Amino acid sequence: MAEEPENGGGRPEEKRSVEARLYQRLPDGVVQCRLCPHQCRLRPGAVGICRTRRNVDGRLIYQFYGAVSSLALDPIEKKPLYHFHPGKTILSLGSVGCNLRCGFCQNWEIAQAVDVPTRLVSSEEVVQAALELAEEGCIGVAYTYNEPAVGFEFVVDTARLAREAGLDNVMVTNGELEEEALRELLPLIDAWNVDVKALRRSATGSCAAGRWRRCGAPWRRRGGPATWR
Ligand code: SF4
Repeated sequence: MAEEPENGGGRPEEKRSVEARLYQRLPDGVVQCRLCPHQCRLRPGAVGICRTRRNVDGRLIYQFYGAVSSLALDPIEKKPLYHFHPGKTILSLGSVGCNLRCGFCQNWEIAQAVDVPTRLVSSEEVVQAALELAEEGCIGVAYTYNEPAVGFEFVVDTARLAREAGLDNVMVTNGELEEEALRELLPLIDAWNVDVKALRRSATGSCAAGRWRRCGAPWRRRGGPATWR
């Protein structure tokens, strides 16, 4: 199965806007996002590095809740996971935005731009679609294609529903999440693919949008998700 986006953002933007869960308010209407290591401080009207979160009148708003740019039934090996339900498939969805700036990004059309066609879906619709694909080997939902971490609120809500429905959740991510967000996701995600984008600072510097020192810190401190369980 592969579906093309159909509405080009045709529904009102307000419908996909929700207040971010992880941020704090600072003086003069400034907000500070606490979702990823960038910790963007945003004046009213400003947008974060990921381009998905905006300060709207002193509140941090995630502007792409449920906005799906890509939806496909993929082999689990395409995530790529080789020892997790081999031979099965997984409903894979992507949205828009990313908190890195890798020059070699394969999915730059949706990761580095936000004016791309999207379809608005609910978490319930995603889970129902995954359940209906069971006969085609579907074992759950993968959050992938763009950086799913910047869609934290929708990923958490969908993963929670999927878990309740007996489905598995897979996260394909650059791992750039702060510890508070990781702790909320870890009990919900059954398998992680955390991509290391580069090993040298010279290469990673551009990926990390100039914030090399902070990136990956929660994972380095904890040694990866295996030690969190
Ligand atoms: S998710 Fe990261 S890049 Fe996006 S606004 Fe928050 S701190 Fe900035």
